[in-house]
Amino acid sequence: MKTLESALSPIAKVLVPSGAKGKNKGTLPPVFSRNVVTIVSLKTVTTRFLPVSHEGFSNETYVDKVDLLGTKRAEFIARKQKGIERRAHMSLFREMLEAKGLKWEQAFEDKFGRPCVIPGSLCVTCWNCSLFGALEAGKGGTFARVRYFDTWTFQSADDCVASATSEEGLGIGNTVSEDLAQARGADSYHLYEYVKAGSTFPVITVLESPTALDVAGIIMAIQRADVHGYGKYSANHGKFSTEFVAVAAGMPRFSVLDLLEAGDPSEVRAKISSHSLDFETDNVVIGHDKITALGNALPGLFDEYWSQL
Ligand SMILES: [Zn+2]
Repeated sequence: MKTLESALSPIAKVLVPSGAKGKNKGTLPPVFSRNVVTIVSLKTVTTRFLPVSHEGFSNETYVDKVDLLGTKRAEFIARKQKGIERRAHMSLFREMLEAKGLKWEQAFEDKFGRPCVIPGSLCVTCWNCSLFGALEAGKGGTFARVRYFDTWTFQSADDCVASATSEEGLGIGNTVSEDLAQARGADSYHLYEYVKAGSTFPVITVLESPTALDVAGIIMAIQRADVHGYGKYSANHGKFSTEFVAVAAGMPRFSVLDLLEAGDPSEVRAKISSHSLDFETDNVVIGHDKITALGNALPGLFDEYWSQL
């Protein structure tokens, strides 16, 4: 099997902070290469999904919808994708520390000078901050190297969103949730719209100056985020199944709108396979199984990263 680095050459294996190491944490270069890796995937909802762009305390929640290319569609914003995948990425990597027999808090203290807490207290130096970006007030930061794009359903919102006017009607939740000590009543109920299971969003993710560790890490983190759930009430809702369509060296020569215009997932697959939707380079890995296999390089790459810190 091809290694990740040879499949997507030329990308670096890992990126470690330069300068002082150990307790005196080093710094990361903001940009260290001109390379780019693009991941194209199809995300299909497997539970109720509330892709709301705002937090609130109201007892009614609506799915964001946009009129686009002649169809009203449910919207899944980039910020939400990024937030959930960032957390999944962190927990995945912490598990790899624990697998080495290390306590993650102590390991962070030793290598990066402090623990890294999302979103309030980022260390600015670790594998996660270096990919997703971080800002430390008054001290500096590191740029995000991962780029997310807003996306929309292939399906019309009239078909794929359960709402007051749809056959299913609104979802009904209970704000008291599992806390049996609290009284339930009319006040504790809330109503919500949701995107129905089976709805699909085409997704583009771009990594700038990526390392093999970043690419393997994001492939695995996306799969973990699918199980954790995106959107509101993600303990029970917002689960996905992601089909990776292509991973390519270079920028895409198309946008999410072009993927929507293809019409449906099978057309997206066909257009990418036939290169009618193509990338800056011919350096492309096509097919879900081949791409998830690239993700399996993660533990070895993490060992290499850790040994260089
Ligand atoms: Zn960090």
